[in-house]
Amino acid sequence: MTSIYSLTPIKAAEYLLSSGFKASQADNIFKDIYAFGACSFDEMKYTARELVSALSKDFYFEKFICEEICDSESTAKYLFKLSDGNYIETVLMRQEFGNALCISTQSGCNMGCKFCCSGKLKKLRDLTISEMIMQVLYIERTEKIKISNITVMGIGEPFDNYENLCGFLDIATYGHGLGMGAKHITVSTCGLIPKIYEFADRDNNCNLAISLHAPDNETRNTLMPVNQKYPIEELIKAAKYFSGKRNRKVLLEYIMLEGINDSKEQAEKLAELIGDSRLFVNLIPYNPSREDDFRRSNEESIRAFYDVLKKKNVGVTRRREFGGELNAACGQLRSDRIKKEEV
Ligand code: SAH
Repeated sequence: MTSIYSLTPIKAAEYLLSSGFKASQADNIFKDIYAFGACSFDEMKYTARELVSALSKDFYFEKFICEEICDSESTAKYLFKLSDGNYIETVLMRQEFGNALCISTQSGCNMGCKFCCSGKLKKLRDLTISEMIMQVLYIERTEKIKISNITVMGIGEPFDNYENLCGFLDIATYGHGLGMGAKHITVSTCGLIPKIYEFADRDNNCNLAISLHAPDNETRNTLMPVNQKYPIEELIKAAKYFSGKRNRKVLLEYIMLEGINDSKEQAEKLAELIGDSRLFVNLIPYNPSREDDFRRSNEESIRAFYDVLKKKNVGVTRRREFGGELNAACGQLRSDRIKKEEV
């Protein structure tokens, strides 16, 4: 049995044709699930009865369990318990322009970035398409809000779960699915280069963000093991390819870590690497966790770093902080819960 929320437009058409229905009936299934919000086969009202009966033999309506919500004015953080007992986190950010949701793609992560909580607890498994969809649906329905932006920047490396990520994006951007504009979705990767090329060549208009965090291989190798396999020059080349192919800007995320990657010389190096391209830098304040020794850069260094990039005509922004007070840095809530269970 498959969760009905894993049904992509393409898979729905294939299913219908192979079961003796018309591919065009897919729209009714999607309308029932996403526009009408049916949570059981009995509640489907647009879909023909004989099709509902066929669907009920092959699919089920998945339920999502929320174990904990940490809420503050601007941010709410949800800890979900999956059907096999694994945990994931989703963060809702209430912003002036709308509601942005940061979703997870894996339970745990194998990339091992030194500053990140998610990686401390290795990947347990990939999330299914439906588990990504449910993070959005659950929050839209329980909070009675519409999500206007999605960042795929929660727990996990999205390009390490590429097929399911693409299935999720297909439903998210499908008019009868979540109906989101692709330009309102951003996928963030630590730099799995072959997938960046694949994603650029795929017919999709989602945004790409790359967790760069250092301007040279020496520094990046110490922070992000993935750099040993996919070095920085190749990564920047891939980012530029994406930018040219999709005619989009590409965001380079850069966590400011005191004494590690925040000197003026490093800012100069970063500007050189970027050159005259459509890559732009987002400076992120480090969100300290109890488990490592990194410290966030002070205001003066951030400002100086920012000024160097500006002077060199590199596009640069500073990220407004959300969720620090909530333990909302990547994977912190999940990591706390797993420890509690171990005790
Ligand atoms: N694996 C993907 C997406 C998940 S991480 C990626 O690496 O891009 C999402 C972003 O949060 C990344 O830029 C990551 O480096 C950053 N991040 C992780 N831990 C953080 C922390 N403690 N403070 C600030 N940003 C953090």
